[in-house]
Amino acid sequence: MKSILITGANRGIGLGIVKQLVSNPSSIEFIFAGYRDVNKSKELLDLAKEHSNVIIPIQIDVSDDESCNKAKIEVENKLGNSRGLNCLLNNAGVNKELKFNDINEKDMLDTYKHNVIGPWRVTKTFLPLVEKAVSGERNVLQASIINVSSGMGSVTLAPTMPFFYFDYQCSKAALDMFTVCFAETLAKSNIYITLLHPGWVQTEMGGAQAPLTIEEACKSIVECINSMKNEHYGKLIDATSGSSCA
Ligand code: NDP
Repeated sequence: MKSILITGANRGIGLGIVKQLVSNPSSIEFIFAGYRDVNKSKELLDLAKEHSNVIIPIQIDVSDDESCNKAKIEVENKLGNSRGLNCLLNNAGVNKELKFNDINEKDMLDTYKHNVIGPWRVTKTFLPLVEKAVSGERNVLQASIINVSSGMGSVTLAPTMPFFYFDYQCSKAALDMFTVCFAETLAKSNIYITLLHPGWVQTEMGGAQAPLTIEEACKSIVECINSMKNEHYGKLIDATSGSSCA
């Protein structure tokens, strides 16, 4: 893989993946690291200064068309005429942790806007650049779109869960369905499309009680992406085991 765009890369899992990619010797040329608010992105922007040949910070708000279009032009300019984008990692997400009695239309729709419409918007915007990277057989490292979902969106596993965040879980179930439909729609395109569950991770969203540190989780995520096979196409893959979730 020579280029990757990661949304929500200013903190949490997104930033962890940037750190993993930059710390390991690889053929990567451009890590386009998405952030939306400069005031919340100091660590990423400092890291990008240290590795200015590889990390390209890209301002992108996944809930905003204009922001996505502007980001696409920046990425396109950097890649130049002959190169496409090898991997789009739709990582940005929110969780309002709405329990049953907290549910309201505005918050439910807002989570949906970030976790479902956001990945669709970014995918729609960057699809031409990923298409440009296709060369030969379907290969995750050549041309791929990976949506970061969650085991919490699993309809099969839900009855075993001790509590529910309705906004988050419904939105991730919808993201899973979007991705499966999208993968089937583009099955002949030779773009690799799949879903990734990162494990339960100690981020702002995951909380301090999560078993995985960001570093552990992101090491597994990078390994998992590097070893994705054809049978993982259109499936939800658990990065901690490399196998598909229920
Ligand atoms: P964090 O809450 O730590 O980080 C969320 C990231 O998403 C931030 O960078 C945030 O940016 C960004 N973001 C949110 N909304 C937007 C937007 N509109 N445009 C651009 N960026 C946005 O979450 P995690 O790192 O834990 O989660 C990353 C992904 O992993 C999410 O999709 C999440 O659902 C998934 N996941 C996480 C698990 C965990 O245990 N942590 C478990 C399973 C899945 P900003 O700083 O500007 O808010």
